[in-house]
Amino acid sequence: MSEKFDVIVVGAGPAGTACAFTCAKNGLKVLLIERGEYPGAKNVMGGVLYRQQLEELIPEFWKEAPLERPVVEQRFWMMDKESVVTFGYKGLEWAVEPYNNFTVLRAKFDQWFASKAVEAGALLINETVVTECIVENGKVVGVRTDRPDGEVYADVVVLADGVNSLLSKQLGFHKEFRPDEVALTVMEVINLPKDKINDRFNLEDNQGCTIEIFGDSTKGNLGTAFLYTNKESLNIGVGTTLSSMIKAKIKPYELLDYLKNHPMVKPFLEGGESAEYLAHLIPEGGYHSVPKVVGNGVVVVGDAAQLVNAIHREGSNLAMHSGLLAAEAIVEANKRGDFSESSLNHYREALYNSFIIKDLEKYKDATHTFEKYPQYFKDYIPMLNRAASKFFTVDGTPKREKQKQIMRSMTAEKGTFRVLQDIYRAWKAVK
Ligand SMILES: Cc1cc2nc3c(=O)[nH]c(=O)nc-3n(C[C@H](O)[C@H](O)[C@H](O)COP(=O)(O)OP(=O)(O)OC[C@H]3O[C@@H](n4cnc5c(N)ncnc54)[C@H](O)[C@@H]3O)c2cc1C
Repeated sequence: MSEKFDVIVVGAGPAGTACAFTCAKNGLKVLLIERGEYPGAKNVMGGVLYRQQLEELIPEFWKEAPLERPVVEQRFWMMDKESVVTFGYKGLEWAVEPYNNFTVLRAKFDQWFASKAVEAGALLINETVVTECIVENGKVVGVRTDRPDGEVYADVVVLADGVNSLLSKQLGFHKEFRPDEVALTVMEVINLPKDKINDRFNLEDNQGCTIEIFGDSTKGNLGTAFLYTNKESLNIGVGTTLSSMIKAKIKPYELLDYLKNHPMVKPFLEGGESAEYLAHLIPEGGYHSVPKVVGNGVVVVGDAAQLVNAIHREGSNLAMHSGLLAAEAIVEANKRGDFSESSLNHYREALYNSFIIKDLEKYKDATHTFEKYPQYFKDYIPMLNRAASKFFTVDGTPKREKQKQIMRSMTAEKGTFRVLQDIYRAWKAVK
């Protein structure tokens, strides 16, 4: 552990591994430190892995990576207590190369991805916790670990230690994240034979489906639930911002139990066997919560930098892309022999010019708006379900009259002005 490296990467999740892989491929001496027994041992994700950002690192990765199913259908459910309004898209162009996205199990995927960084030349050490950064003369020069004599030095330290990022907090890059900046999500992996999955979701072998569920899945609180198909298992999970959970006094495991027993969900799970139960935070503060990401001798990537687009459930791809951008800046800094904040700031510039920050900026007020005005999840989703039920029930009422009745009942409940105001506010938050 007394050797000096060009780069130390803390955390072998998608962000850290992408960074370690790219630095090693460019000839740098890289140490990748992971606290888990192996990469992915402790990592949690609903499971949708996007193709494009990984393909930039490893072309045609789907030919060798441990993936579950290519996703050919994305469904969205607006769910009430005993009903659901659905929409979505199924396309067979997503069933063939180069595909759109895939479901994955992180325990398998992260191990494989880290093995690619090792193949590229990085040294991976598992079961090692980085306890703090070593700072000398205002510059990060290495890390202290929980191993005996566990100090190790490098020109640059990459903090890819995930959502809590205690290490960047220690450096003063951010404060403790507020309960409205993180979502607590619980999920379960439920084993189910392949044929049952194919029948219930109307799929063929090697085709996957994702369902995002809003409304009663979180008992009307800000958040979502998901149900994704793996080869021979389903991932089901639900989460809300921590602040919503505290306000509504809900326990996360009760919410998951409620979801699993919901009449719209239960038939999909029938006969399945619980294989794993997981809980994790998701950074959902968005644009306003992105902390300082560059210092002297140090950069912050992935969840540690709050890079999650909650509206589009993109996280792992932003983690990988930020890891790649950081690596490119480090390779250039290495050529200059300058690891100061201003030299590494190329990473920050690239990040802010990329789709990552542009997308976070687009939705910068969304989470806060939907948290502050809970009627979108609590009132409008049940109203939409009642309207659909009324419209599609054949009872001899002329359709034009039905439309009028629906409009009247909506505006009577809320008032025309309130409805228009809510529509405008929601449009502004996501435009
Ligand atoms: C329930 C859930 C569902 C999600 N669904 C999706 C989805 O469908 N699609 C999507 O793209 N994203 C999804 N996300 C988000 C996605 O999982 C994250 O954005 C992504 O994992 C971030 O990658 P990362 O490498 O930054 O952090 P992580 O994956 O959290 O990796 C951090 C790594 O650092 C290690 N580590 C932490 N501290 C230390 C330390 N001190 N010393 C050594 N090692 C350390 C950890 O063990 C871990 O391996 C989901 C998240 C959750 C919780």
